[in-house]
Amino acid sequence: MQFDGLLRFKTPALIGVILMLLAVNSMHLIRAGYDMRANNLSWRNLISETPQLDTTTLERAVGRYSVLKNVDDAFAAKRAYKALLTSVENWPGSGGEPLSAATQKLRRLAPYLDALDDQASVNHALIVLEKIGMSLRAFSQALVQDAALRSEASRTFYHQLQILEGLLCLALILLTALWALSLEKKNGRLTQDFERARNHADTLKRQIQQDGQTGLINMEVFEKQLESLCKTAPENRFVAVYWIGLETRLPDPERHEIGLQDTIVRAVAERLQRVTVPLKDRAIVARANAKDFIVMTVSDMAIDFDPSIFARHIREAFAKPVLTPSDAHLISPAIGYSQGSGLGLDAYELIRNAELAVADALNFDQRRPVAYTASMRADAERRRKIARELPRAIEADEILPHFQPQFDLKSGRIIGVEALARWFHGELGWISPSEFIPIAEQNGDIVALGWRILKTASAQIQMLPADLTLSVHLSAAQCLDDDPYAKIKDCLVQSGLPASRLKLEISETAVLKDPNRIKTCLSNFHSLGLQISLDDFGAVTSTLSSLTEFPWNEVKIDRALAGKLTHDPAQREILKMVLQIAAFSDMAVVVEGIESVDQRDTLVALGCDTGQGYLFGGPMAIDDLNALFFARTAEKNTAEG
Ligand code: C2E
Ligand code: MG
Repeated sequence: MQFDGLLRFKTPALIGVILMLLAVNSMHLIRAGYDMRANNLSWRNLISETPQLDTTTLERAVGRYSVLKNVDDAFAAKRAYKALLTSVENWPGSGGEPLSAATQKLRRLAPYLDALDDQASVNHALIVLEKIGMSLRAFSQALVQDAALRSEASRTFYHQLQILEGLLCLALILLTALWALSLEKKNGRLTQDFERARNHADTLKRQIQQDGQTGLINMEVFEKQLESLCKTAPENRFVAVYWIGLETRLPDPERHEIGLQDTIVRAVAERLQRVTVPLKDRAIVARANAKDFIVMTVSDMAIDFDPSIFARHIREAFAKPVLTPSDAHLISPAIGYSQGSGLGLDAYELIRNAELAVADALNFDQRRPVAYTASMRADAERRRKIARELPRAIEADEILPHFQPQFDLKSGRIIGVEALARWFHGELGWISPSEFIPIAEQNGDIVALGWRILKTASAQIQMLPADLTLSVHLSAAQCLDDDPYAKIKDCLVQSGLPASRLKLEISETAVLKDPNRIKTCLSNFHSLGLQISLDDFGAVTSTLSSLTEFPWNEVKIDRALAGKLTHDPAQREILKMVLQIAAFSDMAVVVEGIESVDQRDTLVALGCDTGQGYLFGGPMAIDDLNALFFARTAEKNTAEG
């Protein structure tokens, strides 16, 4: 600011300096002109004042006396003679030869002037005076000429001096102008640099405060604004924070056109801004991070504003798909919100609570907005604890497989078992895999856990009948692990389990994490002689195309579908279609979650042969499974016996 002011001040200052110089020079020139005129005048005076050595007065007096014989004229002649003689004798400086000759002649004239009564003396005096007069006039003329010459020289000198001064002034002004010009140029460049620097600083400030992709303010600025709002909020002020998470709700970048995620992120920002328009400056939208947005609303308690209704409005803003030139994408972000009012509101707590609410929405795949509740903090703490303790539990074999039998639905014969991880925690008790498997997936612990379960399960089913298959879950991370084939081969060698008895279950969502690599990996497992199952088919994200895209040996129908079979004809039609595709593609079909006889009968009627569920038996420890087989064999023997 000061620098800018200084730059603006310099140009007028320079113009001022040049004008001052011009004024000084003009004054100087005017003074020189005056001096010149004054000098000319004084020289003219000098010439006019130069004593004129002239015999005219003496000649006139002598002449008059000779005619009139008036004694006064004689006296006048003598006075004029003495004055002239005094003048020539006392002439300042050297008068030279002409003056000394004239002086001699004048001195010699004295006797003749004393004898003026004599006509001969008068005549002689007049003749001599004429000669003296001529030489004195010549002397005076020489003097005048000398004075004129000196005046001319002086004038020439002054003139040259004037020209020189003028030239000097001109040069000085030119130099000053050039200096001013270069300074002006420098100033211009400096101003440009300064402007550039300022623009750069503005851009930087914008970049620091704004999200470049959407133009929204960033999280840091949002936090500060919320903090200052909380500090100054009066008691009747109501503040709500909404966290909008796109994590897991965005289309997979590898399966869609380049830049799709950018388009969607910008569309989300736009829609959020549109929702907040009616609230004017009582709502602020920001980009929290790559896949999250955050909104705050401020309301007066007196005004009827309900954060849950506003959260629904946010949800409704995403009812229509985001259109791209090639497709339409329905985005349903996870929404979590928290609220608070009055003095002492903590901005960070509000944000943290909204974040906890959205984590809840994501964890439980909720599509509706989720409000923060106090239990979420405890849940988050529990998740953190589980995440912290998972590696140790895997290493200490605290997480072990339980086995759920799979049945031939018509005969009731057990044809296989599915290994399901179970964790008994000393402090937390039984922890469901639905809780710790997603955490292990997030932290990467699933790789160690998956191989551990495979190894233990393969070893534990040794006592079971040799025709029984073992289904074990395979995560995407295991497929992408270093040399998964070597690990499986090693496990088969160590347990002695034939490859044909092992089935690897992988869900469609896992496959979609890296379809090409996972497809190659599954083909390689195939070539080892293993069977591959598509798990959880019929869950929310399943597509029919996934049935034929990969080399499946078996498709497992999700328990969500099984649960609706008896009362929903549409679900039965879907299952019929899947059964047809499976028959056509030579795939087995296993239905999960069979809990009732009705369900089993419906499935049998539809032509489904294999299933598992609580109707037959839940997951159980290996000892219970061995006992079950022992009991069944004993039962069979008794029946036969
Ligand atoms: P999933 O593969 O779909 O496993 C079936 C789930 O349904 C199991 O839940 C099982 O206990 C449950 N279930 C069995 N019969 C019935 C029934 O009749 N009704 C109902 N409502 N549920 C039934 P669980 O054991 O809690 O496992 C949940 C999920 O955790 C599994 O789903 C699987 O995706 C994952 N999981 C379990 N163990 C492992 C593992 O070792 N590795 C990996 N990667 N995932 C595992
Ligand atoms: Mg399964």
